[in-house]
Amino acid sequence: MIRTGRVRLPLQVGTSALMLLAKALAMLVPSFVLVMLAPILALAIVGTRNVGLAQVFQYAFWIGGSVAIGRALRLLGAAYRRRPSDVLLDGESVRFDGGRHHGFELGWRDVQPATWSLAEVKGVHVLATGSGSETDLVLAETHAATERRSLGDLLTSIRAIARAKVGDEPAPPPPPPGVLLCARCGAPLAPEDGAAVACVYCHFATAVPDVLRARIRTGREEAARRTASAEAVTRLLDQRSAPSAARLLVSASVVMLGSWLVSFGAVFVNLWNGDLDVERSVVLLAFPLAVVLALFCAIRALLANRSALSLVAFHLGAGATARGTPACRRCAGPLGAPSGASPVVGCVYCGTENVLGLEIVRGRSVEEEHLTIEAALARRRADRAGAWALAGAAAVLGAVAAILLAGGA
Ligand SMILES: [Zn+2]
Ligand SMILES: [Zn+2]
Repeated sequence: MIRTGRVRLPLQVGTSALMLLAKALAMLVPSFVLVMLAPILALAIVGTRNVGLAQVFQYAFWIGGSVAIGRALRLLGAAYRRRPSDVLLDGESVRFDGGRHHGFELGWRDVQPATWSLAEVKGVHVLATGSGSETDLVLAETHAATERRSLGDLLTSIRAIARAKVGDEPAPPPPPPGVLLCARCGAPLAPEDGAAVACVYCHFATAVPDVLRARIRTGREEAARRTASAEAVTRLLDQRSAPSAARLLVSASVVMLGSWLVSFGAVFVNLWNGDLDVERSVVLLAFPLAVVLALFCAIRALLANRSALSLVAFHLGAGATARGTPACRRCAGPLGAPSGASPVVGCVYCGTENVLGLEIVRGRSVEEEHLTIEAALARRRADRAGAWALAGAAAVLGAVAAILLAGGA
């Protein structure tokens, strides 16, 4: 499927928000319970004989618990600010979808490339636009390395598109040697497996050499063998939007919080019945921690798709010719039509694979020029496999803890 018009790209991937959220939820409820039960806990530790010492403990629990609650709330606030968001790019504007600037739209002529920056402030990478003062519009912030890379790529792209819109674009590289040129006007032609191909500028039909036709056919056959990776790329391009990813984060938080409440409910029942021993306390603590870890890893695996979309868009997308038709990201040769519905097309001149539908994106980095679609998909698979494995292990731990709880309650 070739997508035209608007391209959706991740602004805030969400990995940073997820980490903060898991940390906050692992901290919030236990510290709340510590504050609530401070008198009981102090008495349980010191005993009823030394009232003064019990009071010292009680105050210590109150102070410690309150500090932890404050910290957890600050983490929640930061997670909310860093919730997943997207940018929608088209020929007219950049629009923000989800996140703190949801619905905000900026025409390309209003984007001043020089005022956009990605700077590190106290260990946090901040993407902002403005004059470099306190009142700058913060677009995204993160402490996660993968998210920082994706923000850097987005910044490069936005600057390049804005410059191109005011005609400040560097001249495209000359087409590589061996490119089929129009016999009348000399314009590079998009290769086709036919006897002749018409020029988009002067409509003159130029004969296609047999060698080139054979190469086009071989490329088509190779592409047909790689349908699995083409489908994987299609799924990446069509994945859930940032607001939907954010809703998923909220639902996961509710479940995480719920697991803590269940666990502490069980603590109260056990305390009431007077049979809370060390063994049961460990199980009661393990259950919510396992739930938090399992959900954290499962969502981490889903967010890997957003990171992968960034990688594909900024490093594997086809460029554009002066006419706006797809050009090879490596040699700038015009690209032929893909086979069938595949979003992937190989360049007949240099063999590089390109993802179509992302031509609006500019300023691709040269360092990832040799990155292949297979390699990008392999990165995503490795990212997801690790997260899913850990999620599975944590889920098993949580289930065992739940069975032990149910058996003992
Ligand atoms: Zn021509
Ligand atoms: Zn090429």
